[in-house]
This record gives sequence, C-alpha cells and structure tokens, in this order.
Amino acid sequence: MADYVLRCKSCNKTYGKDFRYFKCSCGGVLEVLIDVHTVKLVFEDRGGGILRYRSLLPDLSGYVTLGEGRTPNISTSLSNLTLHFKLEYLNPTGSFKDRGSALAVSKAIDLGVSEVLEDSSGNTGISISAYAARAGIRARIYVPSDIPLGKYLLIKSFGAEVVKAGTRDEASRRVLNDLSDNNYYIGHTWNPYFIEGTKTFAYEIYEELGKVDYVITPVASGTLLLGIWKGFSELIDLGLVSSPPKLIGVQACGYDSLSKHLDNAIRPKCEGPTSLADAIRLTNAPRLPYMAEAIKKSGGFLVVVNDDEIINSLKELYRMGFAVEPTSATAYAAFKLVKNELSGNVVIPLTGSGLKYLGGIESPLYKVFISGSA
Ligand SMILES: [Zn+2]
Repeated sequence: MADYVLRCKSCNKTYGKDFRYFKCSCGGVLEVLIDVHTVKLVFEDRGGGILRYRSLLPDLSGYVTLGEGRTPNISTSLSNLTLHFKLEYLNPTGSFKDRGSALAVSKAIDLGVSEVLEDSSGNTGISISAYAARAGIRARIYVPSDIPLGKYLLIKSFGAEVVKAGTRDEASRRVLNDLSDNNYYIGHTWNPYFIEGTKTFAYEIYEELGKVDYVITPVASGTLLLGIWKGFSELIDLGLVSSPPKLIGVQACGYDSLSKHLDNAIRPKCEGPTSLADAIRLTNAPRLPYMAEAIKKSGGFLVVVNDDEIINSLKELYRMGFAVEPTSATAYAAFKLVKNELSGNVVIPLTGSGLKYLGGIESPLYKVFISGSA
C-alpha cells in the first residue's frame, strides 16, 4: 500500500490523509499523489479484484470489496487492428464504477464516516449504495427525476435513500446544499479516491495486452478517462511502459462539454440532445479541464455521437452477445466512425449493464428493440 497526500490540481496546496472536505479551499479539485518510487511493486492475487494492485493503492485502514475488477477482455482481430471489449458491465453492480466505489467507500470508512451523500445518473448511485451496504453505513443518492426505473429500484434495494432532484445537473447542485457535519460528500465527480479505483483499469489492460494503442471511452464526470490516464502515468513513472495509449473521449449530442476545450472533435449532425445515453448527461463536471488535458497530452481526440449512431451500435453489440446499456454503445459508435485511422490494440470498455434497463415500456431498450420508437 502506498503512502500519499492530497494535492489541489489548481493551486498545488497539499492536504493530509485526514482531510475530508471534497475540494480545496480555493475551489479546486484534489488528486491523490502517490510517490511511485517509494512503492514496492507487487501484483498479487490475495484479496481478489482490484486488490491485486494494492501496492499502488492509497494506504487505508481497510478495503471494502465486492470482487470488483479483473473483468474479461473479449478480442476481435480486424484488418489493421485488434479490438478489445473489456466487459466492465460484469462488475458487481454492473458498471466500472464499482472500481471507484470500492476505494471511495473504503476511504469513508477510514475517516469514520457513517453516512455518504452522492449525486449520480444512476450507475454510481447503485454502486455507492451497494458498497455502503457492504460497509454497513448509510447512503443518500441524488438522482435525475427521469432515472431509468431499473436503476432506481436497485438503489432502493440496497437500502439507500433516494432523492429525485430534477435534471442531472440539478442533482449535483442539490446534494451540495444538503451537506452537514453529520454526513460526507463522496461524490464521484469530485472524489480523488474514486479515481484511485478506476486507475486499476489501466493496470489490467497493461497486464493483458502489454502495449495499448487506443482506449475509446464514454466521458461525463471523467472518472474512467482520468483513472486510465493516472494509471498509465504511474506505469510510465515506474518504467513499465514508455507511452500512454491515445485516449478517445466520447460524448453524446447535447452533452458534449469537452467540445469547448478541444478543437479537433469529430462531430455528427446533432438534431437534439441524446435521449438514450442517460449515463453521460452531465455538463458541469468539475474535472472537465483535466479530462481535456489528458486527451490532448495522450494524442487523442473527442468524438460526439448522435442517437441514430447509438441505436445502430447498440443493436450490433447485442448481436455480438453483449448485454450493455445504451451509453456503452457510444464508444462503439465512435469506433466505427474513426476505425480507419486506428491501428494496434484498441480497447473499448463496455461500461454499464443493460440488465438495469428491464423497466417496461419506458425503458430505452424497449424503445430500441421492441417498439422502434427511440
Ligand atoms: Zn487549491
């Protein structure tokens, strides 16, 4: 386990391990800073899941785990590249978020917290609720009012309190109004420990593939993208890899917040905001500038996709046997738009499970596959 401090990304002020506010006094986002040169690197099988990488995880009093990580990698060779689908939807609550929740909730326990507050489009709310249940603490989740029924039911089933708060952005504002000395804002869009969990995605694809040339991932709060970037940055510092993969961020029409930071975006015709990619409908992510920076420094770019492309890609993914949510199809849609420019090992995390969408005629899956009304 690694020694660490928290450091502000804006002003570089550092904080000790006991700091429990979600941001710097200057308003900046925090990151966990690990000196990898002091790490005794061991990839171990003890403890399961992402604990394989515990030598590169922050030193906490204990780890809450449900067996997250170590997801399958299903590969297909195409003419100029090998495409790797990493089945992140097979994590314990059906999304990559479990990697982050494991670390974020473990840190909450480390701080002695008894109630965590989170704002989420659904997947992180489900994940935090499950890990809070596992840890024996309370969770209160602020969600958009039109959250898919299956996601809502899962959060409730894990015993969390659910607050329906209008739009996704309104949920972000509302949760901050309800903070008090008696609760702890674990919000994944801010939480630096969450990224310590998602960075294990980078370690896994490094171990599986050696050289990774591209990663194509949906982006909203940026926790997976930034985790991949941090993980590869640490692998470079450790001398294990020489360069990071190019990061291709994917957003959907109406929610392409990265467009204003990146001038080389590939864009389709947008006829309105996406109604399908519900997991990436966030416009005010606090780490937005750092996502843009990671994409630029990696040599990658942004792709924006529309609902027609999402529908076609979702249908193709199901015909390949992948039970994913519509948001996961954004990355495959982006791949299809740019694949002629790619070569080598291309990784697409299939981020979330479609099994959360079995909520009747309002389900996006119903609209795509049954009524054709999406
Ligand atoms: Zn600061």
